[in-house]
Amino acid sequence: MQISPRVGLCAACQHVKVIQSAKGSFFLLCERAKTDPRFSKYPVLPVLHCPGFEPQPEEPRPQQ
Ligand code: SF4
Repeated sequence: MQISPRVGLCAACQHVKVIQSAKGSFFLLCERAKTDPRFSKYPVLPVLHCPGFEPQPEEPRPQQ
């Protein structure tokens, strides 16, 4: 699922997980919160600064 860039850094972070509620709402869960108390399980958006941000790995490009 494509995350809107309006949520800030989480949109491009490898530690984010998209959760859908039973009512169809979407939430962003920070997986770092499982092991590090500095992070909130459900970060307040938009996240503009985060010491845990790590970009998602780029998808491999097709070889020519
Ligand atoms: S580490 Fe920071 S940027 Fe990454 S998902 Fe958690 S709160 Fe968002």
